[in-house]
Amino acid sequence: MEGPTVVTRRSSEAVSVPTLSAHVAEYEDAIERILISEEEIQAKVRELGAQITEDYAGRRPLLVGVLKGAFVSMADLSRHIRLPLEFDFMAVSSYGAATKTSGVVRILKDLDHDLEDRDVILVEDIVDSGLTLNYLLKNLRTRRPATLEVCAMVQKKGIQQVELNIRYRGFEIPPEFVVGYGLDFAERYRNLPYIATLKPEAYGEV
Ligand code: 5GP
Repeated sequence: MEGPTVVTRRSSEAVSVPTLSAHVAEYEDAIERILISEEEIQAKVRELGAQITEDYAGRRPLLVGVLKGAFVSMADLSRHIRLPLEFDFMAVSSYGAATKTSGVVRILKDLDHDLEDRDVILVEDIVDSGLTLNYLLKNLRTRRPATLEVCAMVQKKGIQQVELNIRYRGFEIPPEFVVGYGLDFAERYRNLPYIATLKPEAYGEV
């Protein structure tokens, strides 16, 4: 079967990419160290998307994103899953402006879909203590999905307080607080295309 036709732009129509202004440099001044580059992330997202496409061939999985952090990886990942996907989102309470987990999870926005007999893939931005994911998995299991798997873009090494089975995992990082690729500090930095640590002085600027 033939795939969709790809229409490429002629070079004369090429979109010009604006150069980065001083404001951008200032914003990114708060970055201490890039742990995972944009290129590494994009390669991993392609790999995970291909794996999911293969594993779920002939099925119609439902991607469930945990807001807000997962919106970036979910958007990127989904474009590499070549299946009839459906999407839903949950919002849970997170750290707020603090940087340590409380272990208390509150559902702020529940799903619109009924999960019964669905193939559900839960997309999490980052797994730290694992308490959020553990709670969500328990909660979603009670809704009787046919299958329930997890895709977590980042997992912190050696600090999970609970046993977790993460089928699709992007990266392992040391247990440091990171921002970028969906992850915020005080609602900022989610749009950075890489994952990085912040300079200590950046925490005082909110
Ligand atoms: P856990 O329950 O696994 O300790 O924490 C999970 C949630 O805490 C994540 O979904 C995320 O919202 C937040 N979180 C954990 N570690 C980090 C981090 O390093 N950076 C940011 N921005 N959020 C984090």
